[in-house]
Formats: sequence, structure tokens, C-alpha cells
Amino acid sequence: MAGTEQVQDVVAPQAPDTQQEFAVENPATGEVIAHCPVVAPEEIAAMARRGREVQPAWEALGFAGRARILSRMQKWVMDHQDEIIAVIRSETGKTYEDALLAEISYGAAAFGFWAKNAEGYLADEKVKSSAVLVKGKKLMLRYRPLGLVGVIGPWNYPLTNSFGDCIPALAAGNSVILKPSEITPLTSLKLAEGLKQCGIPDGVFQVATGLGATGAALVDEVDMIMFTGSTATGKKVMKAAADTLTPVSLELGGKDPMIVLADADVERAANTALYYGMLNGGQTCISVERVYVEEPVYDEFVAKVTEKARALRQGAGAPGSADVGSMTFPPQVDIVERHVEDAKAKGARVVVGGSRGMSADPTHAGYWFEPTILVDVDHTMLAMTEETFGPTLPIMKVRDEEEAIRMANDSPYGLGASVFGKDTKHAEAVARRVEAGAVCVNDALVNYSALELPMGGAKASGLGSRHGAGGIRKYCQQQAILVTRFSTKKDPHMYPYSAKMTARLGKFFKFLYGRGSRD
Ligand code: NAD
Repeated sequence: MAGTEQVQDVVAPQAPDTQQEFAVENPATGEVIAHCPVVAPEEIAAMARRGREVQPAWEALGFAGRARILSRMQKWVMDHQDEIIAVIRSETGKTYEDALLAEISYGAAAFGFWAKNAEGYLADEKVKSSAVLVKGKKLMLRYRPLGLVGVIGPWNYPLTNSFGDCIPALAAGNSVILKPSEITPLTSLKLAEGLKQCGIPDGVFQVATGLGATGAALVDEVDMIMFTGSTATGKKVMKAAADTLTPVSLELGGKDPMIVLADADVERAANTALYYGMLNGGQTCISVERVYVEEPVYDEFVAKVTEKARALRQGAGAPGSADVGSMTFPPQVDIVERHVEDAKAKGARVVVGGSRGMSADPTHAGYWFEPTILVDVDHTMLAMTEETFGPTLPIMKVRDEEEAIRMANDSPYGLGASVFGKDTKHAEAVARRVEAGAVCVNDALVNYSALELPMGGAKASGLGSRHGAGGIRKYCQQQAILVTRFSTKKDPHMYPYSAKMTARLGKFFKFLYGRGSRD
């Protein structure tokens, strides 16, 4: 297994601590669209006090009371869909469809899902025990909210990945402070407006805009940190959280492989690779980042992907006018270009795209990179080993599935993966050998929409998971309850010790545990 020290992630440049506000740009045009305050560490402390003050009443509202507000919010998201999409697009440069499919539909579904399922996932559980000392007693496991949860998010999906993690934390009865990415803070502020209109009590949900230092201050103040972002920052967060023994859940970077087996439906594999490689401009943690194709179908696969990639339209216009949007984080364009140039220098061929496209035009001020298909690639190239996080799809020919699995696992990351093959039993067996938190067979990425299914990274891609029971229980303290209902004044093992009672207990334990197999 490759070491995590190999991971090199993008970390947003940090401004000096004295900065009081920061500008938000529309990356499709390069235009400044807003300024937001940098929340200082002492203000974070005040926000934390406020969050803690109001949390008990929020918890006391019970699951039904909280679910009412979350369900109203589901409708609010749908009623304000176009407004929210406009805000998301203005700060990310994504297409209307990308915002609708992967942000609005996720957010609306998540409000309904956690409103309906929080109570079931967090219901008290009766526990049976074989321990002699607890015979006849009531044993229970319960989940109590941790109190104040801090959520720190990235820029690629400001609703889904940043705000989305606040929903189960709130449903569990916690107060939440969200620190959105400095590149995309406006969506979180818009959703905070919605929660207020839907009746969330003041202080239960707060947004702390700012740079890295604001996130670092939040780590020091809360009872749990849910972090989504690069592996490099995730490590810093975990180190800082160790000082206060604050639990962390980390959703980090990825380099997701796709394996195309010789018996695959090549048309479906090509469509899926292209769509989930280019979705959101390739800026998805579980994007298809590299493809390994078995020799017999390699040429056909490359021909299909090439033809389809040539037909992609890039832009920031009205719904239906473009397939792929702009890049969101300006330095990401440099990284994508560096990976493409490095691959070319080491012998790769660019069959589609390969340059900044619209950004090369001096009259166009946004941050763009063309949908790009690379072939003749290998693992000496950055495009195959480091997270590119852009609209590139490098395709590598492999001799057989053993080589494909070896290559897929030759990465410090282990977020998602996909395997294509018509013999689904066989493809599933291959999927089980890939070191990743989630593997799809004849599909990619859609596992993320199944809120019942855990989603989390293996290796350097994270710690813990979102969705499913674990996705809400992580925001709670497990509490064990034991109730003795029927009792004598004194149990036999209690003081004073006596030789007679000790001998009796000794015999009793021998009877219980001393009759095991003598083989
Ligand atoms: P990033 O690590 O640069 O920043 C993430 C957040 O951390 C930002 O809000 C930033 O201000 C904050 N931050 C920076 N320094 C901090 C510090 N010292 N302490 C606390 N917070 C700090 O990541 P990014 O560039 O915004 O996002 C892109 C990365 O996120 C990619 O690697 C992508 O794969 C990953 N990602 C992962 C998932 C997942 O579910 N695994 C989902 C989306 C994105």
C-alpha cells in the first residue's frame, strides 16, 4: 500500500491574520461578486458560547419538532430552487444542470431523509448480555447529541459537501457552526436565510465565513469536527483536534480508478467514464480520475470516449446550453495544466482538449480548462498518481484484470472506484479487491445519492463516513445505561470478603468458564 506522505493536495492560500474581509469571485467571468467578513478567533469563541446556550432547547424540541423545521426546509429549497442555483453558479461557475442534479436534488433529499430517519437511527437500543453480574438488569444504549458541532467545507459542492453535513448534525439535536470555503461562502449564507425562515431558533445554526485561520479557530471551540477538504488540511485538522481530544470525521481527497474489463458494455463504460470524469468540471471528490482498460476493448473504448468528448460544449449560459462549466478555484487551473504538461513530457498523447481554452482568449477573464482526454499514460505521470480535480480523463491500456487491480490500488488514496463488466458476479469479485471506501459495478458516483449507504474514504481519503446510521451517530455520544430494578440489600460479592464466599465464587466461575473443549 502506498504511503499517505505521497499525497500532495491543493491548499487554498492563506491571507494574513489581520485581513478583515475577503472577496468572492465568479470564476466563470473573473468578476468580484461579493465581500464577506473574516470571522476572527475571538468571534468564533462568542459564536460557540451562543451555540451552546441554545442547544439544550433545540435538543428538547425532540425529533418531531426538529423534523418539522427540516421538512419545511426541504420545501423551501424546492420553492427557491432557481435562486439557490443562481447563487451556486455565481460562485462556482458550474452549469445549471450540475447545480440542479448534484446540489439541489441532494440537499432537498437530505432534508427529507434526516427529518424522517434521524429518530430511527438514534433510537434507544436494548442490549442483552451474558455477563453474570448484570443478570435481570436493564441494559440500554442511547445516543445523545454531542452539543456543538463544527462543519468545515470545501468549494466544489457548497450545498452538498459543505452544508449537507450540517443536516444530520442538526437532526441529532446539535447546534452547528459551519465554516464554508472562502471560495464559495454565499450558498451557505443563502441556506442559513432559509433555515431562519423555516423557524430554526436563533443561534442553532451559524455560519462563520473566513479563511483557514477561521477554520482552525473553530476546531478549538467545538465538541466535534466534520471536515471535508484536502488530505493536507485534513491532517492539520486532526493534529489540532488532538490537543482538545475533539473527535473528527474526515472526508478527503481521492484519485478514483475505473476498471473496464474485456467483457464490458463499452458504450456504457465510455458514457459513464466521460460523464463522471467531467461532471462539475471534474471537481468532484469521487470523479473518475483515471481509467484502466483491458487490451481487447481498449481501442474501442478510447474511440468512443474521444468522439463523445469532442462533442462536449463548455460554457456558463442558460440551462441546456453547456455540458461542462468553468473551474471554481483559480489555482486549480494551474494544477490541471501542470498534470497535462507533465504527462505530455513523459510521452502521453492528448487526443482531445489539453489547454485553457476560453481562458487563453485575453478578452475572457474566467478560469477554464478544456475537457481533456489523455492516452499512452502510466504511473510515472502526475495525472495518474495525484488528484487532478479537473476535466481530464487519462486512459491506460492494461494486459489483464490483475494488472488493472494492481494499478487501481497503486495509490495513497481510496475514496471511490468503479468496475465495468457484463458478468456482474465476476465484476463484483474484482470490485471487492479494490482498496476504496465505495466501489460501483457498471456505474459510478450514484452511490453518493443513496443516503442509506455509508460513504467514506479508505487510506488517505478519510476517516469515518457520512450517510447511513454512522452518518448521524458520529454526531452523538454513545451512552450506556444500566438499570437495576429488582435487588437485594447486598450482592453476594460485596464487602466484607470471606474465605467461604470466595471459594463459592471460585467454584461458580469454574462451572461457568472451565468446561471448554479440551482438544
Ligand atoms: P482545502 O483543504 O483547501 O479547504 C477545505 C476547508 O478547510 C476550507 O473551508 C478552508 O478554509 C479550511 N481550512 C484551511 N486551512 C485550515 C486549517 N488549518 N484548519 C481548519 N480549516 C482549514 O480543500 P478545498 O480545496 O476547499 O477542497 C478540495 C478538496 O476537497 C479536494 O481534495 C477534494 O477531493 C476534497 N473533497 C472531498 C470530499 C469527500 O467527500 N471525500 C468531498 C468534496 C471535496
